[in-house]
Amino acid sequence: MEAQTLELKPAAGGALFLRGFLDCEGGATLRTALEPLARRGGEDDLRHRDRRLADALVELAGHALDSGALPQSSGQRPHLQVTATLDTLKGLDGSPAGELEWGGPIATETVRRLGCDAAVARVLFDTESGVLDVGRARRVPAAATRRALQARDRGCVWPGCDRPASWSQAHHLRHWAQGGATDLDNLVTICRAHHWKVHEGGWRLIRTDEGMVVLPPVPLDLRPPATPAAGEPPSLLIDTPWRWAPDAPPSPGRGSPLPVATAPPQARGPDEPSTA
Ligand SMILES: [Zn+2]
Ligand SMILES: [Zn+2]
Repeated sequence: MEAQTLELKPAAGGALFLRGFLDCEGGATLRTALEPLARRGGEDDLRHRDRRLADALVELAGHALDSGALPQSSGQRPHLQVTATLDTLKGLDGSPAGELEWGGPIATETVRRLGCDAAVARVLFDTESGVLDVGRARRVPAAATRRALQARDRGCVWPGCDRPASWSQAHHLRHWAQGGATDLDNLVTICRAHHWKVHEGGWRLIRTDEGMVVLPPVPLDLRPPATPAAGEPPSLLIDTPWRWAPDAPPSPGRGSPLPVATAPPQARGPDEPSTA
């Protein structure tokens, strides 16, 4: 094996420049893994090949995180960590950006997408950042629900998409932060690229008797303002910082660094017990 190298150089806004060298076998391994993921996702997929390869690399890494197959560190599975307020999760106008560990500030809709299929912990703070309460809110489908969801949808529900269920995520048609239930009626299986389209891209995914229908984004100036849904729980939480945490409960003390964060899609091993 020749000396391989991969340089990850931080760029503005938490982005990364990549530069490296892979030997013959390393290059072949990477290409063999990326090529199937980098294929065009239909006639309307106009991404340049370089873009599709980059997306494929991120999808590959995301799948490795989701599958829970990576070595644990400090007793936790590696996971993305996001800190956000409840307003941001609800998509309310004027809500602050979320914070992605290693990545910096992220847009509201990105927070909502990452939170759509994530383990979430709630941490309430008082005005001096002392921790008042730590809650555990499970927003990922229980293992049995996820199995039923994958059996029903059999893969990404976006018309024409062929990503299998094992490479897809669960999307709440009505976001849980706005009162949507984490159950079969409100969940669909969707691949990462199309999950992005639904959230950041502004496409609408609608279930009809004939199947799923997608509608293009509504121009920004025609969109109604996001408002809290009727019958939602207390506005008490609305200005409250939330932190999505991995399964180990945080043990913060006043003035100590706060135990950040979130776990996007949970590992979904077939043996995972139902905990919802
Ligand atoms: Zn979603
Ligand atoms: Zn898809």
